[in-house]
Amino acid sequence: MNQVDTYRHKGLRKELAVKLHDKGITDKNVLNSIEAVPRHLFFGNDTVFYETHAYEDKAFPIGEGQTISQPFTVAYQSELLQVQPKEKILEIGTGSGYQAAVLATLGAKIFTIERHKKLYERTKELLQELGYANIKCFFGDGFEGMPSFAPYDKIIVTAAVPELPKKLLQQLAIGGKLVLPFGNEAACDMVRITKQAEGQYSEEVFGKFAFVPMLKGKVF
Ligand code: SAH
Repeated sequence: MNQVDTYRHKGLRKELAVKLHDKGITDKNVLNSIEAVPRHLFFGNDTVFYETHAYEDKAFPIGEGQTISQPFTVAYQSELLQVQPKEKILEIGTGSGYQAAVLATLGAKIFTIERHKKLYERTKELLQELGYANIKCFFGDGFEGMPSFAPYDKIIVTAAVPELPKKLLQQLAIGGKLVLPFGNEAACDMVRITKQAEGQYSEEVFGKFAFVPMLKGKVF
C-alpha cells in the first residue's frame, strides 16, 4: 500500500477542517483530529479514486457495498460523544476505520466491531500499519456489543438502527453516552442517549443524516 502523507495532503486537511468549522463543528479537539488523520489512506486498495476526493466533504464507497462516512458526519458524531482522553469507546461499524482513527486521535481507547469479515481483516491490518495501537478490531455482530470489555464510557453506532439495541445500553457505564443514527437509513435522526442510572436514560435528538443500515448477523 502507498502510505504517503505529504504537505499537500496536510494542506487539504486544513481546508477540510475549516469547511467543517464553517458547517458548525466547534470542538477544537475534533477539528485537530480531522487535521491529523490521513483520510486518503482509508479508502482501500481496490477503490479507484482521486486523492483530492478524500478531502471533499463526501461519503465514498469502500467495497463490500459499504462506505466511508462523510467527514462532517464523523466530526458531528465525534463532537456529540464529548470524548475525554483515556475513555473506553465502543464503535459499531468499523468500515474503513476512519471514524475509529479520529476517536483514537482524541486520546480514547477504541473497541470497534465489523460484521463483514473481509472489511474487518483489511481495516485491522491497515490500522496496525498506520500505528493506531489504541484501536482493537473485532469481527462480530454489533447488536451483541462486546460484553468482555464493558462497561464503556461512550458507544458510537455508525450504521442506521431501526430499533434501540438493548445490549448496547446495558454495556454503557452510568453517566455514559450512546450516539446513534436512529430510524430509516435514508433519513435517520442523530440521537444521543445518556445513561443516568441503571435502567434510566435521557435522550436528545439532533439533525437528519443518511447512513447504511445496521444489519444483524455476520458476513463471511
Ligand atoms: N465508521 C465507518 C463507517 C462505515 S459504514 C467509517 O468510518 O468508515 C457502516 C459499517 O457498519 C459498514 O462497514 C457495515 O458493514 C457495518 N455494520 C452494519 N451492521 C453492523 C453490525 N450489526 N455489526 C457490526 N458492523 C455493522
